[in-house]
Amino acid sequence: MKISETAMRPLKNPPKDATTTNHKLLVQGGFVRQLMAGVYTYLPFGLRVLRKIEQVVREEMDAIGGEEVLMPMLHPADIWKKSGGWDGVDVLFKLQSRIGKEYALGQSQEEVVTPLMQEFIKSYRDLPKAVYHIQWKFRDELRAKSGILRGREFYMKDMYSWHESQEDFDEFYEKAKEAYLKVFTRLGLVSKVTEASGGSFSDKVSYEFEVLTDAGEANILYCGGCEFCVNVDDIDKYKEGDVCPKCKKRKLEPSKAAEVGNVFDLGEKYVKAFDLSFTDKEGNKKYPVMGCYGIGISRTMGVIVEKFNDDKGILWPEEVAPFKVTLIDLDKKGEAQEIYEQLNDAGVEVLWDDREESAGVKFADSDLIGNPYRVVVSEKTIKAGGVEVKKRSENEVKIVSIEELIKVLNG
Ligand SMILES: [Zn+2]
Repeated sequence: MKISETAMRPLKNPPKDATTTNHKLLVQGGFVRQLMAGVYTYLPFGLRVLRKIEQVVREEMDAIGGEEVLMPMLHPADIWKKSGGWDGVDVLFKLQSRIGKEYALGQSQEEVVTPLMQEFIKSYRDLPKAVYHIQWKFRDELRAKSGILRGREFYMKDMYSWHESQEDFDEFYEKAKEAYLKVFTRLGLVSKVTEASGGSFSDKVSYEFEVLTDAGEANILYCGGCEFCVNVDDIDKYKEGDVCPKCKKRKLEPSKAAEVGNVFDLGEKYVKAFDLSFTDKEGNKKYPVMGCYGIGISRTMGVIVEKFNDDKGILWPEEVAPFKVTLIDLDKKGEAQEIYEQLNDAGVEVLWDDREESAGVKFADSDLIGNPYRVVVSEKTIKAGGVEVKKRSENEVKIVSIEELIKVLNG
């Protein structure tokens, strides 16, 4: 893509109303615009990142047997009344039609997916089953001041599964947990699994996937020696400095963390409310065990920005960067056109800053946008044997030939 093709480019100065790093850098870099607190438009660069995170999540959900569907955002009130969520979920957005009919904006999809799957799950032979979708969701937040970390409208993957027995659910949960850890690793994040309460969904224990960052809202205690981690906002039986109850070797350390995913064992709450039952091997009617598994996609994008930035802008991990490389030509001699075409032909995602701007502006914008590589071409670099390449995360610059460059970028 040529930067001249989009009007939605980086800004010289950060927005005045931004109080968080992700909000500031995403607006200044030309990734998002805020419509109101907690509600954002994704501009072309931002949409590329969002779609890439979505695709990583999709691939890992497909890999554990999830079937993708797309469920609606607008729900009739009666399904929420049936599950108890109409009065029980305080963040549920409720609205009324012009003739007084009541609706809810999707905050979760148990009320839609359970009656949907009632049609397809009849016998033990139909189990286990897992379906997921990736869709916008809504929460009536009183305060939404964390950029895209906590939206009133946010993009999320949620999966639901049904099982013949608790053992089968537990087995699938382990698979889903591994898939989640893989997703976050691919996104360049280190996540921890914490035990938390089930909130409004369930009385059973749930699990949260947390990324350690000062921008997070959760307070966790974790062990540096094993995978033990607990959300102390929900479970208060552990204190800072306690010996780790799991490995008993190290003391628990506190940290701020951002929740990027969660898993709930829903038991029979929704299958009973919507009478989703199956016939077991002996011919008896039974309720399956149901689970739900969320990953906040727009939220994860915000967490990535909070984790990977410096005073010049964002440093996107390679898997989700809007482009692999920013191409800058300093003296408009036509070499950049050829390199741009060669990179495109080699399948490299390249953003060519083809504007009539100073080198200073182009370098600053390149850092702000945060693609993993910057390539500069000028008379000087051509004389020296090719182009100058620099990683966003490093200071070292190198002159390489076009062939070498393509190898580095595709490597
Ligand atoms: Zn431990």
